[in-house]
Amino acid sequence: MNVHPTISEIRTVRWRQPDQQWGLVPTMGYLHEGHLSLVRRARAENDQVGVSIFVNPTQFNNAADLETYPRNMEQDLAMLRAEGVDLVWTPTPDIVYPPAYQTYVDVEQVTKPLEGAARGSHFRGVATVVSKLFNVFQPQRAYFGQKDAQQVIVIKQMVQDLNFNLELVVCPTVREPDGLAMSSRNVHLSPVARRQAACLYQALQEAKTAYEQGQHNGEQLRAIMRSVITTQSLARVDYVSIAHLSTLTEMAVVAPPALFSLAVFVDEVRLIDNLILE
Ligand code: AMP
Repeated sequence: MNVHPTISEIRTVRWRQPDQQWGLVPTMGYLHEGHLSLVRRARAENDQVGVSIFVNPTQFNNAADLETYPRNMEQDLAMLRAEGVDLVWTPTPDIVYPPAYQTYVDVEQVTKPLEGAARGSHFRGVATVVSKLFNVFQPQRAYFGQKDAQQVIVIKQMVQDLNFNLELVVCPTVREPDGLAMSSRNVHLSPVARRQAACLYQALQEAKTAYEQGQHNGEQLRAIMRSVITTQSLARVDYVSIAHLSTLTEMAVVAPPALFSLAVFVDEVRLIDNLILE
């Protein structure tokens, strides 16, 4: 496995065999089974697999959150080696954003609600770093998790608008046995908070069940999600949403394709999750 911090080293390995098909998995590290599901899919569908590990400062709207984001490079590299990954990019922030840096990618509409409303310029940072990753690796395919549903929508729009010549592959959310979506941030949960964190998935499931039983009123369904969260003493709703899957406009009357999503602070750890109604 080739592991390199610089762009020129990545390009050298990438173009050694120019006719090979490359799959890219962008990550912020502290890898878990969710990340590995993307790596395995990329491994199965490409000749070569590239992974990036970069905690991207421009997508954090809070310095403390960036500072405390979990990191374990040695363990990450061991996991990627075991999956047969070919190339790993481990840049430092000044390689991605050198001192004179001044170019950002702004996807205008689908970045506005939900995570965009809650986290300021988060998606400007995401779109910028992902477009740089696409330029550095020039992969045939790029792998993203449904866990970050709005991120998928934003990247899809960016790929279409900026004519990136690659296929986006969206992989299902990998969950713990109690339904909690795997996330690097889960490590910050205390044992009590960890138990209560299962309420995100429960809230989504209860709203979806109510929909399937005939409740199509958006406000009523959002109220069901909120009520499940409020049963947990450490949980506080940031937002609950039932929106159109492609425009992310909130629905008064719910109909497929819809994205049920929510962000919840559990004892100060901010978690997100979602379900799609096809
Ligand atoms: P991150 O390291 O959090 O930026 O995530 C890197 C990629 O892994 C993103 O495309 C995420 O959507 C994806 N991912 C994170 N958690 C999961 C999960 N539980 N299941 C599937 N994909 C995930």
